[in-house]
Amino acid sequence: MNDHNPLYADACEHCMTRDVLPESSLPDGADGIVAGYRCPNCRHTWTCSWAVVPGRAIPPEPIGGAERLGTLLDRYVTAQLHEQAAVNRARKHLSKEGPA
Ligand SMILES: [Zn+2]
Repeated sequence: MNDHNPLYADACEHCMTRDVLPESSLPDGADGIVAGYRCPNCRHTWTCSWAVVPGRAIPPEPIGGAERLGTLLDRYVTAQLHEQAAVNRARKHLSKEGPA
């Protein structure tokens, strides 16, 4: 059986670099990992959650322990929270302005 992505590679959404390999990962519950990426081209960082596929090599835990990926993850989650909050504010605004 062919595994098309044996190293949990992901694509950079900023510059579209493909097959960026995770720098590190942490276990995420029972059957998953959160992998941290840094784009070699534009230095964009992101995280991706994966279901662990048997036979695939798990990326190493971050150098310096969970704290490093935690920092990366926090920044990502904070950005997501800001975005979601903005969407929610826009929705509320629209429903106020919309036809009653
Ligand atoms: Zn990039």
